[in-house]
Amino acid sequence: MKVLVPVKRVIDANVKPRVKADGSGVELSNVKMSMNPFDEISVEEAIRLKEAGTVSEIVAISVGPQQAQETIRTALAMGADRGILVKTDAVMEPLAVAKVLKGIVEAEKPELVILGKQAIDDDSNQTGQMLAALLGWSQGTFASKVEIADGKATVTREVDGGLQTVELSLPAIVTTDLRLNQPRYASLPNIMKAKKKPLEEKTPDDYGVDAAPRLKVLKTEEPEGRKAGVKVKDVAELVEKLKNEAGVL
Ligand code: AMP
Repeated sequence: MKVLVPVKRVIDANVKPRVKADGSGVELSNVKMSMNPFDEISVEEAIRLKEAGTVSEIVAISVGPQQAQETIRTALAMGADRGILVKTDAVMEPLAVAKVLKGIVEAEKPELVILGKQAIDDDSNQTGQMLAALLGWSQGTFASKVEIADGKATVTREVDGGLQTVELSLPAIVTTDLRLNQPRYASLPNIMKAKKKPLEEKTPDDYGVDAAPRLKVLKTEEPEGRKAGVKVKDVAELVEKLKNEAGVL
């Protein structure tokens, strides 16, 4: 069974993003970029399914600029078999990415696509759901457990009230949540080996996708800074402040 794993290049999760002076977006120049953390979880899950003998091939896909190739190489170093870079310098909204992925699914005919539940840059949480809708496939989102057997995927989902288990007929879309697994680090020998794995280059045009944005960003603002803390001299003062200043007692 073939699995596609879309991996997005985003600002590294440990970097504090800075808003551009004109408010048009977040500063990306000279900022460390990495694979979206939820996509690392997707790659890990695909590798575990391959190690269990359920999956035969893992294809990592990234839609983005030339540098997104590095993100694919990271997936290859973790254990994916080959990569597809859909090269574009345009801002790709989730709908455009989902349309590109639909084109790749039609060409590659996988039985499973594992995406992250959200990209930590745009926080859209849309691409997987849109892809499922475009393909007419079943979807198991926010997965914390995935089991594949007898042409079906059993997915445990993290929902507000707790955990929900759904059974999906394959082919299907799964989106990953934090508790699904702990992604592995790529070892140095595997990083070297990944350089030789096949990486194909395409463009959104190859899939007939019009990448023109549907949304207009009106402004981007930094969140309000946290106020400094205060030291209290005793418990009585703490209780007094909690009661009268914070209003929590
Ligand atoms: P989003 O809907 O933007 O929050 O993204 C959800 C998931 O869709 C991500 O975790 C990725 O798996 C996938 N995705 C979104 N944008 C891209 C992209 N440009 N390239 C590859 N995968 C993407």
